[in-house]
Amino acid sequence: MQIPLCDPKLEYLADKEEFDSAIQGVLEAGRYILGPNVASLEDEVAGYLGCASAVGVNSGTDALHIALRALGIGPGDEVITTPFTFIATTEAIGMVGATPVFADINPETFNIDPDCIADAITSKTKAILPVHLYGQPCDMDAIMDIANQHDLRVVEDCAQAIGASYRGKNVGGIGDVGCFSFFPSKNLGCFGDGGLVTTNDQATYDRVEMLRRHGGKIKYHHSELGLNSRLDEVQAAVLRIKMRQLDARNRRRRQVAQAYNVRFSGLSNVDCPIEIIDADNSDACYAVYNQYTIQTTDRDKVTAELKAAGIGCAVYYPLPLHLQSVHSDLGYREGDFPNSEAVARRCISLPMFPELSGTQIEEVAQVVEGFFDPSRVAA
Ligand SMILES: *Cc1c(COP(=O)(O)O)cnc(C)c1O
Repeated sequence: MQIPLCDPKLEYLADKEEFDSAIQGVLEAGRYILGPNVASLEDEVAGYLGCASAVGVNSGTDALHIALRALGIGPGDEVITTPFTFIATTEAIGMVGATPVFADINPETFNIDPDCIADAITSKTKAILPVHLYGQPCDMDAIMDIANQHDLRVVEDCAQAIGASYRGKNVGGIGDVGCFSFFPSKNLGCFGDGGLVTTNDQATYDRVEMLRRHGGKIKYHHSELGLNSRLDEVQAAVLRIKMRQLDARNRRRRQVAQAYNVRFSGLSNVDCPIEIIDADNSDACYAVYNQYTIQTTDRDKVTAELKAAGIGCAVYYPLPLHLQSVHSDLGYREGDFPNSEAVARRCISLPMFPELSGTQIEEVAQVVEGFFDPSRVAA
């Protein structure tokens, strides 16, 4: 039996009629761009996250790009971020003409290490761009402290983390701007591309809202060059339906993660993901597991084993961004970010989606256990 890494179609099939009729409703209403569904979704997501406002855009990549633009970050400015992320993070920095400066990760949380951020600050640093990777919140208290000390803006890349919280605060409302993606495989995914920007600052909201539609508040009057980056009305209608299930689906992802943790704990040569930021406060972090990622030195062998058993798995990400040829001009070398490099060699993500059944979890667990400790499976 095949078990995919994720399966966005299942959520559609479970509520097919409701999705079909919402889409049909948009088609028949005839308002396809910036209509009532986009406006309502923006209000609903802002309310859900506890942010003052939200702006729907074309993609998570555009959300990051527009956020940086709106904060006035551009040529000559440096933005500190993690090398262990998807390329969209540095793409956005490059698109505004700024320079990414990398800071290494904590190998246990996969996220940027605040101590490394402090070391990377120069007179040109304008912003920090933490990525809540795999749905796990970054250490935001420490990051906000550094930002406040040095008067830096904070742009949160929440593409994998909608619904995650850090010390009771939802990600996306902690820094100056939050950037979300509705790519189909994210925790809240639409049937195409989509993204969203959140902020508590009115001036930032105004600028983001203007930039997404060609840089003008009034139609055909343009105060700066913007872009065409709007969330489609059809996608917004779909997302409004999916929003209602988001919390329950995130809870189910956490149950799946917990079930894997129980099965894999004690296996030698397997490190499970951990989400406790400090030992005194076990509620510090609510991760939403866009991915469930283990670490092992036998990554390539276990990958082959999983594939042979028909189980989907993937390496996010095999090559840290400081070693990508696109960033060779930045002058980094192998060895500059040892934690990111080690995790890139050791990480493997296992099937993770809310519809995974107990039997499927069991099947995945048996292959992993059978590889690392055959005696357990035999017993
Ligand atoms: C998916 C993703 C993005 C980009 O989102 P798109 O909607 O695909 O443009 C940015 N950052 C991270 C960490 C992502 O996972």
